[in-house]
This record gives sequence, C-alpha cells and structure tokens, in this order.
Amino acid sequence: MKLSDKINAIRASATLSISARAAKMKAEGIDIISFGAGEPDFDTPDFIKQAAIKAINENYTHYTAYEGCEELRRAIADKLKRENNLDYDYTQIVVSNGSKHALNNAFAAILDPGDEVIVPAPFWLSYIEIIKMEYGVPVIVNTYKEKSFKVNSSMLEKVLTDKTKALIINSPNNPTGMVYTESELKDIADFALKHDLFVISDEIYEKLIYSHKLRHISIASLNDEIYKRTIVINGLSKSHAMTGWRVGYTASSKEIAKAIGSMQSHSTSNVNSIAQKAAIAALTGDQSYVEQMLTEFKHRRDYIAQRISDIPLLSSLLPKGAFYLFVDISKLCSKTIDGIEIKDSEDVAKILLERYRVAVVPCNVFGYENYIRISYATSMSNIVEGVNRIEKFVKQNF
Ligand code: PMP
Ligand code: GLU
Repeated sequence: MKLSDKINAIRASATLSISARAAKMKAEGIDIISFGAGEPDFDTPDFIKQAAIKAINENYTHYTAYEGCEELRRAIADKLKRENNLDYDYTQIVVSNGSKHALNNAFAAILDPGDEVIVPAPFWLSYIEIIKMEYGVPVIVNTYKEKSFKVNSSMLEKVLTDKTKALIINSPNNPTGMVYTESELKDIADFALKHDLFVISDEIYEKLIYSHKLRHISIASLNDEIYKRTIVINGLSKSHAMTGWRVGYTASSKEIAKAIGSMQSHSTSNVNSIAQKAAIAALTGDQSYVEQMLTEFKHRRDYIAQRISDIPLLSSLLPKGAFYLFVDISKLCSKTIDGIEIKDSEDVAKILLERYRVAVVPCNVFGYENYIRISYATSMSNIVEGVNRIEKFVKQNF
C-alpha cells in the first residue's frame, strides 16, 4: 500500500523539529541553548488566562459558530479598523487554529491544481509545504542582501507565468526581520493588480517593529482594488504570547470568507471555545504588555546583533522587526574541522548543536543557502551564553 503523492512530498517542519530535539536534549540533562523555533518566551498575560478560566466556569464549553463566535470576529474587525485602517464586516473574518491553519485555508480557497504561487526567498518554511498540500506550485523568487532581502515588481515579473495565481508577502519577515515600506508595498500591489493576482499577506509579526521611523502597513489598506484581492493572515501567537492557544484568522472578501468558513465547517469546526474567550480579552483588554515585550525584544536584538557582528567571519543585517537574526555564515563554508568539511548551513547547525550545544536553524529550509537563523525570543541569559558558545565555535575552528 502506498501513501498519497501529496503526502509523500511533504516534509515535517524543521523549525519545530529542531526545537523538539533541543527540548529532548534538555530533558536528558544536556545543557542546551535553543535559538530554534521562534515563539515569545513570555507567559500569556494573567488577564487573558483569567478570561479563559471564567469561560470554563461559565460553561462556555460548547460548539461556537464554525467561523468563530461573533464577539471575537467583531473584536478582530475592530482591531483591523483601529490599528490597520482596514474596513471589514465581522462576516469577513474567519477564526482558525493559528495563522498556520489560516494560511492553509487561504490557499485552499484560491488554488486549483497546478496554480502557481510566488514566494520570495528566504521564506518561512511552511509556506512551501502548505501551498503543495493545497495542490499549488510554489515558485521561488530570490531576494538579495544588497536589497535588504526584499522583493520588487521587476523581480516578480521575471517569475510570472500564465499559471501564476497569487503571491505571498510577509512583513515583518521571518527569517530576515525586514519590514516593507509603504512605497515598496505599493509597487508590489501594482504588480498584483496588473496581473490579476491574489495577495496573501502574512502580518503575524506586525507588533514587532523596532524602528520609530517604520510602521506596519497592511498591503490591503493601500486601495480598494488591492483590498479586494488580499487575504490578510494574522493571529495572537506572537502579539499576545499565545502560541499554544492556537488562535489565528483570515480577513478577506465576503466570498472568500464564506468559502473558508464552509471548508472549516467540515474540517476543524470552531477554534476551541475557551481560547476564543481568551482571544477576546487579549484584543479588547490592556495592551501595555505588548509594548513591554517589544521593549525587551529590542534590547535583546541590539545586544545579539552587536555581539554577532563582532565575531569574525559572521555578519548580519540589523533586523527591523520580528525576533530573528539572519546570519551569513558563508565565510565558514569550505573549511575543514577535524577532517570534516563544512559544506553548508546544515553542517554549521549540526556542529553547533552536537559540539557546542546551541540549536540554530539552518536556512536552507527557508530556501536560502549559507545562512543560519537565530531566534532571540529567549531570555537575555540564554542569549549571552548562546552567543558565547557561537563565538567559541568560530574562534576555535577558523
Ligand atoms: N507565519 C509566520 C511568518 C510564522 O513565523 C509563523 C510561526 N509561528 C506563523 C505564521 C504561524 O504562527 P501560528 O500558527 O502560531 O499563528
Ligand atoms: N514560526 C516559528 C518559527 O519560524 C514557530 C515554529 C513554526 O511554526 O515554524 O520558528
């Protein structure tokens, strides 16, 4: 018996696998520092947890509307209006099990077998597998350090075919930390309009922008035409330290929202009812801790970026957002350590994990060679120790 071709083509998430491996080593008593999967190390704020406890005590434990309860969808629509200048009726919002699920829904709604989706590299690894799971074909367009790893319309034109159906953008970006400006988004929006494409806009890191000169802009807010063809993806995992609660959402045209809702009514149905109550509290309650997390992440970013750039042979651009450092390790490649040739980022990550006890993500999984990703969503003491180990690795061997 044979599994489906579709499933045979899917690889498990390397970010999650690397973190699971690091957690297992830690449980075995190994002193490991994990810069693997990116998730806020902060706990979910107490008032959000209390809302969930209240929901349980009040028996809010039944099915809700499969697209999410009206109160939550209204709270999301209000947030999109207030913070992103986007006008959505609550019926245009579908609440899903994390933004990962929202992305699955979005691609399922728009792709027919063989439809192509343009994905700028480096990319968050799940985009590729999700597109494939929804029978689409990811078409990768490379970006370059010299252009701050950003894509523009002339780069997009080069990979356009008559099968192109959509493109995905992610700002602030995982793994590079880059943030698109309004004029850059306008250029991308014009391209999408010119070629009648959907835009999937993953805005999960919108709250994490470190420069006062930059602000998050949703491409959907640029004009009415781009609004109609954009599916905004967002969620509470990063903004409200709620990764385990699994609350994400799509905001789209009524037609797409209806299609996504129908699909979801046959797959997962509603997101956990208690998590929905927690999400309402998160979106409508005191937001000051979001600022506090941002301040702490900025402090860590400044420290880690400086330390890594002080290590000979390593370099990175200063991330403007998210919580990742995208580190160029090309100068370590083609060298030999104890008779073993370092060929690529996988070899660097392997040695760092096995010999220096630091977990990082090799960026071949993000479609980019000769880079590693360091997540600084971990404590300052872990960051100091982890960077010390990376420094030792470079200084001892190169
Ligand atoms: N998009 C990006 C760019 C991410 O890095 C992640 C990682 N968590 C997600 C979406 C998915 O997040 P979640 O499913 O927890 O909302
Ligand atoms: N988005 C995070 C990361 O890139 C979390 C893990 C995942 O879901 O991939 O590390």
